[in-house]
This record gives sequence, C-alpha cells and structure tokens, in this order.
Amino acid sequence: MSDYQFNTKCVQGTYRPKPGEPRVLPIVQSTTFSYDDSDYVADLFDLKVGGSFYTRIGNPTTDGFEGKMNLLEGGVGALALSSGQSASMFSIINICNAGDHVISSSSIYGGTFNLFDVSLRKLGIDFTFVDPDADLDEILSCAKPNTKAIFGETIANPSMNVLDFEKFAAAAKKLDIPFIVDNTLATPYLCRPFEHGANIIVHSSTKYTDGHATSVGGIVVDGGTFNWDNGKFPGLVEPDESYHGLKYVEAFGPAAYIVKARVQLLRDYGCTVSPFNAFMFHLGLETLHLRMERHSDNARKLAEFLSGHPKVQWVKYPGLKGDPYYDLGQKYMPKGASGILSFGIKGGAKAGKDLIKHLDMVHLVVHLGDLRTSILHPASTTHRQLNEQQQIEAGIYPEMIRVSVGIEDIEDIIKDFDKALNAI
Ligand SMILES: *Cc1c(COP(=O)(O)O)cnc(C)c1O
Repeated sequence: MSDYQFNTKCVQGTYRPKPGEPRVLPIVQSTTFSYDDSDYVADLFDLKVGGSFYTRIGNPTTDGFEGKMNLLEGGVGALALSSGQSASMFSIINICNAGDHVISSSSIYGGTFNLFDVSLRKLGIDFTFVDPDADLDEILSCAKPNTKAIFGETIANPSMNVLDFEKFAAAAKKLDIPFIVDNTLATPYLCRPFEHGANIIVHSSTKYTDGHATSVGGIVVDGGTFNWDNGKFPGLVEPDESYHGLKYVEAFGPAAYIVKARVQLLRDYGCTVSPFNAFMFHLGLETLHLRMERHSDNARKLAEFLSGHPKVQWVKYPGLKGDPYYDLGQKYMPKGASGILSFGIKGGAKAGKDLIKHLDMVHLVVHLGDLRTSILHPASTTHRQLNEQQQIEAGIYPEMIRVSVGIEDIEDIIKDFDKALNAI
C-alpha cells in the first residue's frame, strides 16, 4: 500500500476488510470490546498485542482514520484527538514538563498562540516567539539549555507566510530538538513536512481533512526520525512508573513518541475523538486530493481577480506571482498553495464589514477548509483575544479579510465578490 501514488492512498489506504466485512470503514460506536480471556486483556493492557479495549484509548474506526493520515504523511504512527487544539497541546506536553522551553514561530493560528502563551505557560512551560522570517542565527539565539522543541505552521493562519522548512529544520538539528509542524492548511496533498525535516506533524482535522465543516478533531503524526535518547527527553527513555516501568524508546523504538502520547497522555487527559467524527475524517481524506487541487486552483484565480480590483489594497496568497512567499510556496508546495487567501480592502475595517454584508453566496463563518467559500474578518473575530501589537506580530491588520475559497465554479465565486466590492 505504501508504494501506491498519493491519490490512490487517499482512496484505498489503509482499511482492508476481511471476507464478509463492510467495504466501507464501519463506525464502531461502542465504548467497549468483548473478550473471553482475562489473560488476553492483560496482554492488551501490557501492549503485547494490538487491539481495542476501551474507546478512550483506541477504537477500530479511529484506527482507520489514524492509519490513513499516517500513510498520507509518511509517518510511523498517528494519534487522533478531540480537536486541533488538543493535538497541538499533546505535541508539546508529550515531551515538555514544567521548567522546559519551546521556540515557536510568532505567525501561528491565534488559538495555538493562546494555548502556548497563556495556558501552557500556566503549567510552567515557557515559550519564545520568533518572527518566522528571522535568520537562522536569530532563531538559534532564542534557544536556552532547557529548549525542547521548535514549532511552526506550513502556511500560517491567516497571515499566509510559508514556513522556511530548511531554516527551521537546520535550527532544530543544531539544537538537537524535534521540529513540530502544524500542516493543517497545506494538508499532505500539498506539502509533506517529513520530507523537509519535520519530526512531528499536527493537524486540526476540523478543516481540510473533514472538508465539509461537519466535525471537530485533530491528529498528531510521528515521523519516527528523532533520536529521543539524547539526554533531553527522560520521559521517553526512563521507566514510566504509571505504566509499570515501561521504557518507551526501548520498547517501541522509532514509534516511542506516538505510543507514549496514546498510552500515557490520552489515557490521563482523555481528549478522545468520537468514532463518528473519526469516520467523517476518514471519509474526507478519500477525496482530499481532488478537493485540494480545486481549492488551490480557485484560490489562485480569485487572488488574481482581487489583485486587479480597484477597491482592493493588497492581496496575500503564496500562489500569486509577486507574493513575498511565492518562491517558498513553489519550493514546498509545487502542486498548489491551498485555498486560503487574505486581502486588504480600501476603507479599512468598516469597508471590510460592509463587504461581508453585500455577499450572497459567500457566508461569514468562523471556520476554514470547508468546500463552501466562506469569509471572515480575523481582527474582530478569531484573533480578538490578542492585543493590537500581538495581532500585528501575527500578521493581522484591521482591514484584513480572510477568504477560505471553496470548490464551487470559480465564475460564481468571482461574481459574488465583484458585486459586493462594487456595492461598497
Ligand atoms: C483551526 C486550527 C487549529 C485548531 O483546531 P481546532 O480543531 O479548532 O481545535 C490549529 N491550527 C490551525 C492552523 C488551525 O487552522
């Protein structure tokens, strides 16, 4: 299955029914699994055999989703969770304790920024935010002896910076710490971060993975490439007393990180995705290749239209020639630059709010990655908990409108924007 081309993996990987079983990955809406031998269940608990025993920690439908995302990203294992936020949180707390430090790009999703800057800080994990366009030396100068990870987004939501993987991977290598990438906006169809030096990938599967705006969820994928036995990550090397002395690296080798995240963190924190949502994500991934191609095509065409419109001040889209991130976009996402663009409208925040009122087909929603084109004013909605300085550092300007371009006919999308722009 791993020799299939990407599109075939979307459609066919990884669920394989046995004779008489459903052709489509079934929804196993059951908390529990029945056995007739306690010794076998003991082996399940000891992780000596694979299988489900309680849905908080694993479920056959969830396994199907995890298997497919792992195949698409090219990892050694994946862990589905209840939201993108829990995926970002797990990716950090699986390797950081109170007293540790993380370097993060400052250009990240507002929810992730708050998670790091407020909630994880309260747990004693320290963060330094660095401009992703800073040079390697400046990034390295943020490091401390207790730095345990470096974090960035492939395409930053919503500032639309493309991450310079080579530079971030070089910093991580030099510091001997893992490089964690949020690949939500690009998806593995457009960019495969493990091929560019990432060690761990997180997704909000709420967005393009689902693709139809039905379900909230997240996933962590482990590339299996980081050597945890370097003296910085005792939690992965030394015995886990809460799991009768299990040593993750010794027992699971390259999959140590993702096994620990499941059997320790998911066991204790319980940010479990529902099997129904896992089914929706798996179904979404079956058409990921078709949707991402069309999202990217339509976004490029809308970006070209908007950049020629007299009421538009600026357009940011890494797939648009002349964009500051065009070259990085071509380098890391040669098949397309995803469906999200932002633009500044003449007349500032007020004109932006007016525009939204004059659109018919395109609705205002707090979401992205849906197959329906949608629009948002980040400064007054998703990023309103940041102060103005933090907003500008995250690339949010008052006149900025974010569009999540859908897979409708591009003529209809352009017509709706043209009519609304001309009405203000
Ligand atoms: C939405 C989003 C998240 C958070 O995901 P939820 O599923 O809403 O918890 C994280 N990262 C990025 C890039 C996002 O767009």
